[in-house]
Amino acid sequence: MVPMMDLTQAIELCTFCPRLCSDRCPVSLVEARETVTPQAKMAWLGLLRQQVPEAPGAPPRSTLPVYACTGCGACTQACLHRVEPGVHLLAGRALAEEQQAGHPALADLPRRQRARGRAAAAEVAGAVPEQRRRPDAPVAYLPPCLAQGGPGEDARRMLQLADRAPGLSGEAPMSIAATDSSCAGYPLLAGGFVEDFRLYAEDFARQVAGHATLVVGCPACAWLLRTQYPLHGVPVRPHVLHLAEWLGRHAEALPETPPLGRTAYHDPCYLGRGLGVYEEPRAVLGRATAALCEFARNRQEATCAGGGALLPLTAPETARAIAEERLRELPPGVETVVTACPSCQRQLAGVAGAPRVLGLLEVFQE
Ligand code: SF4
Ligand code: SF4
Repeated sequence: MVPMMDLTQAIELCTFCPRLCSDRCPVSLVEARETVTPQAKMAWLGLLRQQVPEAPGAPPRSTLPVYACTGCGACTQACLHRVEPGVHLLAGRALAEEQQAGHPALADLPRRQRARGRAAAAEVAGAVPEQRRRPDAPVAYLPPCLAQGGPGEDARRMLQLADRAPGLSGEAPMSIAATDSSCAGYPLLAGGFVEDFRLYAEDFARQVAGHATLVVGCPACAWLLRTQYPLHGVPVRPHVLHLAEWLGRHAEALPETPPLGRTAYHDPCYLGRGLGVYEEPRAVLGRATAALCEFARNRQEATCAGGGALLPLTAPETARAIAEERLRELPPGVETVVTACPSCQRQLAGVAGAPRVLGLLEVFQE
């Protein structure tokens, strides 16, 4: 990942800072440890980069602090200098991999990613007829690998909705992307496997080059395709939209839904702070409920649900505690939480006693 500011300048700013962002970091809030504040993690990254040796006889320096981050960007939102610890820390994982000190939970991630991609593609192929998976379809949807019920079920939901509301696709009927994976490669980049990511991205970009518009169900992959592919020298031909943007553009054409009751929308970090998409999903939900309410922190100030940057793999307890904290911000009487991210949906739905948690397509499911 490529941050706006170089690491040396970012570390200097963090070192002399009164730590304006400390109370924003979901990881340091739930772990309540000084070593995982954004400032401390940046200082740690500086030592890792310089390969500053530990005292003689001490064990090798741990790389764990660079994994104590969800990439949520809340620290940057609070920072007067707009330092991006989330982006720097994710890039620091590549350094850890180079030094053969990557996180043990991510060992073999590229192989697992390929296997998971193949399984997702087979699932989608089994769920969607071939004529709805044409590589030259003008508009195609990429169902997320973590979708509720799996990517095949999510692809079916999308086609069902598009068929019920033809105004959604305009001239071109909606298709499902005929890719050999349901993921644009975010886990590889977030895990620090930069070269694997670049090769994966080149292959994925070739597979979607026949579409004019690619609608993506995962905010992290939408962010990746729009901001990180070009930075890694991989051009993306289709115009990439997140599902919430695409539905928001066609909100008038959306069909009636079963009533949702009092509903709150959770802003996913990569869609909100990452791509600046806040109002479109709310416009979509405005079609489904007259009782839309807000988390105490929302839009730019929204707190993370703990699902980003592979935290559920590297620190599952912390990820769970972050999701619990997020649900404590709900106003009373909420029956349904809707989010535009399958990873956030998993995180929030996994909290004991959580209200019903839906993805955007599920809202319109018959
Ligand atoms: S990210 Fe900004 S606010 Fe946070 S420690 Fe660094 S300079 Fe300070
Ligand atoms: S990006 Fe989020 S999780 Fe990472 S250091 Fe900043 S506030 Fe903490």
